[in-house]
Amino acid sequence: MSNIDPHGLANQSHVAAPADSKVFATSIRDLTKEYVLKSETVKALRGVSFDVQEGDYVAIMGPSGSGKSTLLNLLGCLDKPTSGSLYLGDDDIAEMTDDQLAEIRSMRIGFVFQSYNLIQQLSVVENIQVPLYYQGKLGSDEKRRAVELAERVGLGDRLSHRPAQLSGGQQQRVAIARSLVNDPFFVLADEPTGNLDSATTEEILAIFDELNSDGRTIIIVTHEDHVADRAKRIILLKDGMLHSDEKVSEERRDAARFAQRQAVKELLAKQ
Ligand code: ADP
Ligand code: MG
Repeated sequence: MSNIDPHGLANQSHVAAPADSKVFATSIRDLTKEYVLKSETVKALRGVSFDVQEGDYVAIMGPSGSGKSTLLNLLGCLDKPTSGSLYLGDDDIAEMTDDQLAEIRSMRIGFVFQSYNLIQQLSVVENIQVPLYYQGKLGSDEKRRAVELAERVGLGDRLSHRPAQLSGGQQQRVAIARSLVNDPFFVLADEPTGNLDSATTEEILAIFDELNSDGRTIIIVTHEDHVADRAKRIILLKDGMLHSDEKVSEERRDAARFAQRQAVKELLAKQ
């Protein structure tokens, strides 16, 4: 795969790279995506650039049609850009073959979807191991890792349950554990709390808080302010362009946590 300097550091030869130079989970430059239809060409992304450092927690927002899903598909190696670059580690996905994309997708990206996407016939532990099947890794080490991840998301007592025997929040926790089994570049979550009530949303967001505190990079697409405010940074897309990229203060993050917990209390009081 390619060996091009992803962050333009070669152009900064007057400064030695500092020992603590930032590591990027992904680096995006002038990214465009056009969909060619019979009657027209849709410019879904019109030149988007940003970096995500390892350990960051980014919410991607924007009105319907602004390009969020398109960007997510590119970050998840499900599709290739029309132009521009998207680096994962040292590799630009724009230059990869479809097979390479599929490989990096199964080995280095952790997906969490709104609809969980679990396999109904498999147990909790087996669902968590699914990304490893594609790599032919099915030994006892892998099984132990899946059990550890199940415990980590609070499902240590549900290891043999099938998805239908779990609540929505528990199913999403399985999906989060599954997303971590490959030690991904980042967890890519698409409206992960879109189907969940306040209490379950809080459970899931608390897990993301914890994972991020442990250094895990998280990129989440959401249209909900109270979910986005839990992130460290909010990127707003508009008309396929980066409209704003703002840091979320710790005060604002705390306020969002507090408000969510209040909503949970009110919900429980009514039950
Ligand atoms: P969002 O997720 O923010 O709603 P999308 O990335 O889904 O935005 O869409 C951005 C634009 O690209 C929209 O105008 C949409 O209609 C168009 N688009 C998205 N996917 C396709 C596709 N597969 N073929 C053609 N047009 C598409
Ligand atoms: Mg969308």
